[in-house]
Amino acid sequence: MSVQEVETRVLRPERFEEVLPPERYAEFAAAMQRARELFEGRRVWNINSTASGGGVAEMLRSLLAYCQGIGVDARWLVIGGNPDFFRITKRIHNFLHGSEGDGGELGDAERRIYEETIDEGASELVSMVAAKDVVLVHDPQPAGLVARLKEKGASVIWRCHVGLDLPTDVARQAWQFLLPYVTQADSLVFSRREFAWEGVDGSKIDIIRPSIDAFSAKNQELDGDAVSAILAVAGLLDGEAKSAPTFHREDGSPAQVQRTADYIEGGDAPKPDDRLVLQVSRWDRLKDPVGVIRGFAEHVAPQVDDVHLVVAGPDVEAVADDPEGAEVVLESIAAWESLDSDVKARVHLASLPMDDGEENAAIVNALQRRADVVVQKSLAEGFGLTVAEAMWKARPVVASKIGGIQDQIEDGVTGLLVQDPKDLEEYGGDVADLLQNAQRATEIGKRAQNRVRDEFLGPRHLTEYLRLIERRHL
Ligand code: UDP
Repeated sequence: MSVQEVETRVLRPERFEEVLPPERYAEFAAAMQRARELFEGRRVWNINSTASGGGVAEMLRSLLAYCQGIGVDARWLVIGGNPDFFRITKRIHNFLHGSEGDGGELGDAERRIYEETIDEGASELVSMVAAKDVVLVHDPQPAGLVARLKEKGASVIWRCHVGLDLPTDVARQAWQFLLPYVTQADSLVFSRREFAWEGVDGSKIDIIRPSIDAFSAKNQELDGDAVSAILAVAGLLDGEAKSAPTFHREDGSPAQVQRTADYIEGGDAPKPDDRLVLQVSRWDRLKDPVGVIRGFAEHVAPQVDDVHLVVAGPDVEAVADDPEGAEVVLESIAAWESLDSDVKARVHLASLPMDDGEENAAIVNALQRRADVVVQKSLAEGFGLTVAEAMWKARPVVASKIGGIQDQIEDGVTGLLVQDPKDLEEYGGDVADLLQNAQRATEIGKRAQNRVRDEFLGPRHLTEYLRLIERRHL
């Protein structure tokens, strides 16, 4: 097992004063003060297995930067292993989602490989941590380190970012594999109560929901001109950019979108005045892009004339370790091919450039801000960051009533929940309703934005971690 420290940046937490209501900001300011005192002379370590790609890395990057800004010495270690180790941990990850993955087992042989890998680098890693420190161990890959960190005297929180609403036998196999490691932690944190495992002492369980970064390239404010310019330069809307396609990078420096996206189905881009329905997600069957297309064609397009659908995802060429992505793109193209020609002209499959992560994020940001309705018609979802991202932009969202989506959207108030994720008529009907009731859509969007401001930004997330550490005297 290799161990690498990821450099954490420093971001000013005081910038949240711009977006939070005064009483919320005061609460956060008080928490920051307590955190400074509690962590005087101590460190908070985070351990996971990737520095980029995926929601966990995205959250750590921003939350740890705010910790540094608060004056808490927050560190980030990434462990690496050989292909056998990652084959097993990927299997565990799939099982935790209730999916059979590669069909392999989690038996004694797998446990031996897992433990041997962890043992190889454990001493080096543990030597970096002091007995007074707090360590957050994220997800299955580094779970085997919990006992070693406890022996050292550190306080340890195991943070599980995945889960499913109803446990399955496959999920239980992964739990059995991990339980001997994770139950040694002082606290086990899940994103929702329903994700907590059988066999864990209930008094050790804590629930903390994820968050988005209001100021990242993905979520920062963009005015209407910048949105139009970014989408025009990216080739996602017809016409020329009339102003600069500018966004701001994490370090605050201005940058411009330069690369173009592709409409892979080969149709013309929507016109600047067309209304848009949008789903942004990885090309994954569990995000159901084919259902999004068919539901739109059958239940939205016939009812609303001027509306187009954009289904956008990363350029699959750039995601070399996901063979499924290319297959799902082909399935989506086949669904588009089967549409009547008038509907075909209104359905677009966008492949977004991945060369520069922040440019990709700025394009997603512009698409979400430009959309009249955002959908997330997933069949399974741990949290669904795309939902919070769209809500933060005051977009009305139609999303499946599953996993963490249910914690974000209050049905009919801050978005619409599709009760049966496979029911195309219900999904299409909800989308058409919002397109035909502009006032309802605006009100829902406004309430959605307030909900994200209050519940799904970094200050709430960090304050909950602090309260957990205080409550458990870690
Ligand atoms: N995303 C992106 N570019 C894309 C497609 C997706 O940046 O081309 C982002 C999306 O905005 C979100 C994340 O990938 O921040 C996906 O997180 P989510 O929780 O929605 O789903 P996951 O992919 O983790 O299942």
